[in-house]
Amino acid sequence: MTEKPWLAHYPPEVPHTLTYPSMPVQDYLTKAYRKFPKKIAIHFMGRELSYEELYQSSMKFANYLQKLGIQKGDRVSIMLPNCPQAVISFYGILYAGGVVVMTNPLYTEREIAYQMKDSGARAIIGLDILFPRISKVLKETDLENVIVTGIKDYLAFPKNLVYPFIQKKQYGMNVKVEHRGINHLFTEIMKTAQPTVAETPFDFDEDLALLQYTGGTTGSPKGVMLTHKNLISNATMCDSWLYKTTDGEETIIGIIPLFHVYGLTTVLILSVMQGNKMVLLPKFDPETALKTINKQKPTLFPGAPTLYIGLMNHPDIAKYDLSSIEACLSGSAPLPAEVQEKFEALTGGKLVEGYGLTETSPVTHSNLVWGERTKGSIGLPYPDTDCKIFQTGTTNPIPNGEIGEIAIKGPQVMKGYWNKPEETAATIVDGWLLTGDLGYMDDEGHFFIVDRKKDMIIAGGFNIYPREIEEVLYEHEAVQECVVAGIPDPYRGETVKAYIVLKEGYTVTEEEFNQYCREHLASFKVPRVYEFRKELPKTAVGKILRRSLVDEEIAKQNEA
Ligand code: AMP
Repeated sequence: MTEKPWLAHYPPEVPHTLTYPSMPVQDYLTKAYRKFPKKIAIHFMGRELSYEELYQSSMKFANYLQKLGIQKGDRVSIMLPNCPQAVISFYGILYAGGVVVMTNPLYTEREIAYQMKDSGARAIIGLDILFPRISKVLKETDLENVIVTGIKDYLAFPKNLVYPFIQKKQYGMNVKVEHRGINHLFTEIMKTAQPTVAETPFDFDEDLALLQYTGGTTGSPKGVMLTHKNLISNATMCDSWLYKTTDGEETIIGIIPLFHVYGLTTVLILSVMQGNKMVLLPKFDPETALKTINKQKPTLFPGAPTLYIGLMNHPDIAKYDLSSIEACLSGSAPLPAEVQEKFEALTGGKLVEGYGLTETSPVTHSNLVWGERTKGSIGLPYPDTDCKIFQTGTTNPIPNGEIGEIAIKGPQVMKGYWNKPEETAATIVDGWLLTGDLGYMDDEGHFFIVDRKKDMIIAGGFNIYPREIEEVLYEHEAVQECVVAGIPDPYRGETVKAYIVLKEGYTVTEEEFNQYCREHLASFKVPRVYEFRKELPKTAVGKILRRSLVDEEIAKQNEA
């Protein structure tokens, strides 16, 4: 048996090992600017930015951050949807020597506060309409500076004039911050700052570029420390897999959020690395996405199954020309075969399933884009990526075909969890990252995912951690016991269901719980289904049997 049977499937164009430039991630932008200054780097709702403009803007942003006192290693949060400011801020923070913390714009005050406190972020770049939420948590955090921007700041005339009326929300600068917080306008920075930065010392292997929050394998939110080496390695691997693409000639559509590491690596970094155009959409709306594809003619389209399903099921799909699409990488959740076939028939391009996790920057496996793929498989490990299946709970490899925990070794594996040495030690064992996913490898070297060891729910492409929702529910005065689980859902993959045991004497309705959860959780985490029970199934030691509730639900759905 060969040690890495997957290598035999590699096409000659993909090397087994790669060379990585020992430079900081932002050097991709410097290089693209030097090579393609006039090429379009970003298209956003009709407005275009050249590489020259992106580079100059990012440098100005860096200059401003340095003037605010941001130093090497300082964390700076970006709380924005997909828009040019997110890209400028990302590269600007890195040029200034800082570490990016990506914050989901859907977060509630409680979630923002946790992330800011845990990361120790010193500044945040937020969207104007999010500003009231951000301003409420300032006192609890180390945030010293808030930089505010609006969608309209990067809209072309006359859309920029009309937009504030469409948005109908308060503009952030009108909200008074009485704390130490100082507000800055993104537009002012672009007008006043100089495109120069003070160099900071650099260590390719050790320096962090990104602190990316995830529930990880144990459920509590943790900052995944991704170094410049991690991100450069993963972008280089993705680039090698896409060997038919031509630098400077491709257009990549960015519908998946840049605040998730998947969008960050496969759109924000890869596009700049290749000197391509990224077309950004601030949120997923099937009609806008179809119109944009029709007009902007993207060739590359990273996404998640629900996104492709959403597009395919649009009633007017036939009206749009999707034939520009050449390659789509689907990640985050299993890709149903019929979705793959139907989407490929619609576009004439390739849609392949890949796999990865935040802790691996994120991609570790993918099917070949131009070549054989295996039904139901997450594909082959990327170059320089070693993968083994361990007997669960150990680091003992098990024979091919047997199910165990997927473990990864490679330059894209995180440095560790931020300020959590014990959790790091439990996750990276003998140099192997234990993914918490259960799967197997066939004799040929194709990998398959079977289940998740962790209890994470993936609903509509969002990762949801039951424990976090349970914590909120437990804070409700009427809740005696509760458990949250992901139940099968034909459209969202899984949906969140809460099982609740009420304290004696209390009556609370489903609608009241729904309202309560909406106040405390981002909307994608709010349970869609509630069930009230007299008791919950438990093990002998009192641990609630979440899995048996899911099995019950599956049986009920099968009967229906
Ligand atoms: P995240 O850290 O948010 O990127 O989530 C990573 C998790 O998503 C993995 O540990 C898997 O459980 C899941 N995942 C990613 N890709 C796939 C896939 N192709 N099939 C099934 N699950 C996946």
